[in-house]
Amino acid sequence: MVKISNTSKLDARSWSLQAIDTCPGSWAEPGILVDACRGCYATTGNYNYPNVIAPRVHNREDWQRLEWADDMVAELDSDRYFRWFDSGDAYSLGLAEKILEVMIRTPWCKHWLPTRMHKFPKFRAVFESMQRLENVMVRFSADSVDGSYIPGLHGSVIGPDAESYSQTADSKLCEAYAHGGQCSGCRACWDKTIPVIAYPAHGQKMAKVIRLMSVQ
Ligand code: SF4
Repeated sequence: MVKISNTSKLDARSWSLQAIDTCPGSWAEPGILVDACRGCYATTGNYNYPNVIAPRVHNREDWQRLEWADDMVAELDSDRYFRWFDSGDAYSLGLAEKILEVMIRTPWCKHWLPTRMHKFPKFRAVFESMQRLENVMVRFSADSVDGSYIPGLHGSVIGPDAESYSQTADSKLCEAYAHGGQCSGCRACWDKTIPVIAYPAHGQKMAKVIRLMSVQ
């Protein structure tokens, strides 16, 4: 059975897995997470509640069913915007290929998929196939927390705060911070005409990562 999450911030539903466990792209080297993942919001607060963990653990097994793509297509019948991976990542090529199938079979729904799996060359073809679809925006996440990213590669980045964010021609600042942490109708993350979204760092854990970096 497909288990979908509702994220109050987004006004859109999501299919998710456990953070870090399913994020091979989050490791800079064995035992060391990349800066962006050291402060991951999905390892704190509500994400530690059993009722939040359980569907993510379930989904890791569930996607391997033969009927999973059919069930996802039926589940998205009324969705117009969908986010893959509020937590976790497309850790398996088989999973990424099934997600591509769901995207192709749900042209009425816009899909946004953030990922760090682009670091692994065998995933490139499936992400390119997704990105060619009109209803899909795949955003490769930058690893930094200081707003730096590689133009033409990354589709999102974390910056320290909104005040020190400097607008670039290809990026847009996420302004959820100005709306009580809610998207409030913004759909920029799904918008294929916006190459990069810059997210101000949020949460105490990320603030600590940035403080630590500033004294290194
Ligand atoms: S850029 Fe817009 S759609 Fe994306 S997270 Fe921020 S408020 Fe939401």
